[in-house]
Amino acid sequence: MKHGFRQRVAVVLAFVMIVAVLAGCVWRYAYQQGLDQLAARGQADLTLASDRLVGQLQRYRDLAVLMADHPMIAVAVQEGGSAATRDLLLEVADKSAALDVLVLSAEGRIAASASGRNLSALRDGRHVKRALRGALGWGHGPAYPLTQRAFFHAAPVFGRNGKVQGAVVVITDLNGIDYNWRGTNPAAFFTDAQGEVYIANRTELLFWKRPAHTPGLIPPHGDAPAFEARRVGPHEIWQLGWGPYLPGEALHLTQALPMIGMTGEVLLDVTQTRALAFAQAAAVAGLCMAFGSLLFLASERRRTLAAANVQLEARVAKRTVALRETNAKLVAEANEREEAQVALRQAQEDLMQAGKLSALGQMSAGISHELNQPLMAIRSFAENAVQFLARDNHQRAAENLTRISELAQRMARIIQNLRAFARQEDIAQDRVDLAAVLLSAMEMTEGHRKAAKVALVFDPVETGVWVRGGEVRLGQVFVNLITNAVDAMADRAERRLEVRVHADDSVQVEFRDTGPGIEMPDKVFDPFYSTKTVDQTSGMGLGLSISYGIVQSFGGQIKGSNLQQGGAVFTVTLERATPKEQAA
Ligand code: ADP
Repeated sequence: MKHGFRQRVAVVLAFVMIVAVLAGCVWRYAYQQGLDQLAARGQADLTLASDRLVGQLQRYRDLAVLMADHPMIAVAVQEGGSAATRDLLLEVADKSAALDVLVLSAEGRIAASASGRNLSALRDGRHVKRALRGALGWGHGPAYPLTQRAFFHAAPVFGRNGKVQGAVVVITDLNGIDYNWRGTNPAAFFTDAQGEVYIANRTELLFWKRPAHTPGLIPPHGDAPAFEARRVGPHEIWQLGWGPYLPGEALHLTQALPMIGMTGEVLLDVTQTRALAFAQAAAVAGLCMAFGSLLFLASERRRTLAAANVQLEARVAKRTVALRETNAKLVAEANEREEAQVALRQAQEDLMQAGKLSALGQMSAGISHELNQPLMAIRSFAENAVQFLARDNHQRAAENLTRISELAQRMARIIQNLRAFARQEDIAQDRVDLAAVLLSAMEMTEGHRKAAKVALVFDPVETGVWVRGGEVRLGQVFVNLITNAVDAMADRAERRLEVRVHADDSVQVEFRDTGPGIEMPDKVFDPFYSTKTVDQTSGMGLGLSISYGIVQSFGGQIKGSNLQQGGAVFTVTLERATPKEQAA
């Protein structure tokens, strides 16, 4: 996490640095471009100023040349200036705004002048000497007492023989020339071959001098103000502290003016150029920063999303593992449950079998008792019959034999019942005669009932009440209900079993006893519910649950409840067999 944070800080710093470098390059490029444009403009301005100056001065040169050819001047150089000559010179000077116009003799003596002032120092001037040698002379310098700054044009005056007879010198006052463009922009000045500022539109710069081998200027008196020069590409930038009317930082341009022996120079303020370059660099930096910020935000967002995704995936993986474990557990549990169910089913089947066997045992005990009784009776009846026959009492013998026959029939019926119980019924639904089934059940349980000394109250049912059901299974239900009632009354003083039949739409058979009643009426039909002890006839707790299933399979119902006066009543409701079924 910390590593990631550091990395991001490093990236941001690197980006800021790159933007700074880029902004610097843009600044530099824009500044240089701006300087190029400024230089082009400045150069044009400088050319204009130079041309104007040169043009103005040229006029006086032409004037000198023209005057040199004047016949009065030719006379004046030889014979000295007359009043007329002076008038001419004065007129020319006035009309041309020249400071003075002089006529010099071949020796350099002043023959005539417009001002009439003594300017003899002039004749030592280089330009005068040039003119007296026959060439056009020009130069600048003081023309005391007329002016401190003057420009001189000297033209030779030739005689008829072609020799130089003298010279005409036109003096121009430079104060008058630069007066008109004083203060105009840009700051421009003209330096002579010695590097002295001689003409300027900023008067404060006049007579400042260029130090040897270094750029810049220093004033003629006092300390040199702050100055520094450097180059930006091909451009020379001056850092100045030269006063309020000169730029603090300026582009310095020059133009040589050989025709007047000077160099034109301008100082162009670069403040605006610099500000423009700065604005461009700032715009680029701003754009880059904005773009960078957007990128940074996008990458931050992507990073956050990626982190969230990783977290989510980890959580999903964890949850998947947990789910897989739970699933495995569930599968194991399901397997266990399936196994348990198989085991349970097996156990149930075993128990059913056991229940059947136990019921069979119970019945066989009753039946053996049942068979034993008539057998004994048959034996005694047979013995008696033998004796009656011996006494020739045929009638009694016949009675005894009839009884024997009846008893044999009864035994046959009992055996038939036993066989029927043991037999598996394959027909699911059938119709049965209720009376016959009920009678058979009572006969099967008679032994047990009598042994328990239970009185039976039963109004025999007429035959022909047909109900839906299987003979054997319905008999099994009745046997079970009778046996349970007899068992329940074992410890009671009054032991009476009442069997009632109501036949209308459906048929109801009730078994009422005088026992203690059902302990848990809502549980009696549950499998394995039993309150009987092991030594009693049954005790598997399957009788009623099997009976419930049997009656239900006939479309009937079995219910157990307690009587108000004490004892329990079990009611078996059976459907009547339909006429069609009856007919079948
Ligand atoms: P088992 O006879 O093997 O106990 P049953 O399903 O036939 O199994 O009976 C379940 C239980 O119902 C008996 O143990 C007994 O508690 C109760 N029971 C059944 N018939 C009666 C009845 N007539 N009076 C009181 N309790 C009864």
